[in-house]
Amino acid sequence: MKISSNIKNILSNVTDWRHQLHNNPELGYEEAWTSDFISQKLKSFGIEVHRGFGGTGVVGVLKGDQGGGNRAIGLRADMDALPIQEENEITYKSKYDGKMHACGHDGHVAMLLGAARILSEHKKFNGTVYFIFQPAEEGGAGGLSMIKDGLFDKFSMESVWGLHNWPGLEVGEFAIHKGSVMASFDKFNVIIKGKGGHAAIPQSSSDSILATSATIQSLQQIVSRKQNPLDSVVVSVTQINSGTGFNIIPEKSEFIGTIRTINPNVRKSVHKQFLEICKMTAAAYGCHAEIEIIHGYPVTVNHLNESEKAVIVAQNVVGKKFVKTNLAPSMGAEDFAYMLEKKSGCYAWLGAGKGKRGYMLHNSKYDFNDDIIPIGIAYWEELVKQELPIHTSL
Ligand SMILES: [Zn+2]
Ligand SMILES: [Zn+2]
Repeated sequence: MKISSNIKNILSNVTDWRHQLHNNPELGYEEAWTSDFISQKLKSFGIEVHRGFGGTGVVGVLKGDQGGGNRAIGLRADMDALPIQEENEITYKSKYDGKMHACGHDGHVAMLLGAARILSEHKKFNGTVYFIFQPAEEGGAGGLSMIKDGLFDKFSMESVWGLHNWPGLEVGEFAIHKGSVMASFDKFNVIIKGKGGHAAIPQSSSDSILATSATIQSLQQIVSRKQNPLDSVVVSVTQINSGTGFNIIPEKSEFIGTIRTINPNVRKSVHKQFLEICKMTAAAYGCHAEIEIIHGYPVTVNHLNESEKAVIVAQNVVGKKFVKTNLAPSMGAEDFAYMLEKKSGCYAWLGAGKGKRGYMLHNSKYDFNDDIIPIGIAYWEELVKQELPIHTSL
């Protein structure tokens, strides 16, 4: 891949921004320093800045100076860090105990700022680019908070685009899914209530532990028997709590866990089956189940048209054979899903290679691979060029 002189000229600056961001990680909705940093940078490029979306979210508005068209697109970067103690020994190591950029959002912000700087210098596009810096991707649904604060009402845009670094894909590769790319996640809490009593007189009790065991066993049939084997589903029970002594049958037992799917319809049907199985199995043991399913992020589903456009953009940047379109989705979740429920768009994976240290996202030794900064900037720049072309046919 050839790196343009525009990008080469700012590369050391952008890398330095990335390191500053890494040095100053902030958790979801606490990104005050990060938000200031981004706003100052955007203003210094002459970009109009709007703040306060989803608390710390920032939107930069840049109009092209070619053609005066009113088409508009949104480019999004997430900016929060994770509650992890960094174990890297690097000069720009996190200065806060228990917080670090272990998902590469420092790199995402830096790359989008780099693209903003280059686009603000030449403005060779016809329409408006919105640079969306969102808080709290890691479980806090910052994307949804920005929407609730009027992101799409105040700024009318026809499509939104996301980019996430992806260790495991080589540097210089992209993966673009024409459909589901990341899973939904939901949490569940189940309380099974029976009748407590003496362990030696079980006939006088309704044993909540037995009912819970049977319910958890029975939930396994959702994946193995009730869903199509070609659909990916996870139902994991991750914690059980019950009991106070060896000779007491406890009145209640509780368990929690998570459901993941990569298809919105499958998600609905899993919820329905989950509720039925818990209720009916508990009842079969003379107990009663109280079930709560807490909705997490929806499935992240790329729109076909936009994913095909993203493939062309990525191919223009790295070449045809380095753009994969047949990778399986990840069972991880992503709150860009909320934006894709409202707007057309595509969320692409940018290969991050094994990096110097070979660690995966969310590992305490992970560090964003600076080698991919020019590729990410080039992708954004090319996307704007393609989506907001100067020459439109008459
Ligand atoms: Zn993450
Ligand atoms: Zn992430």
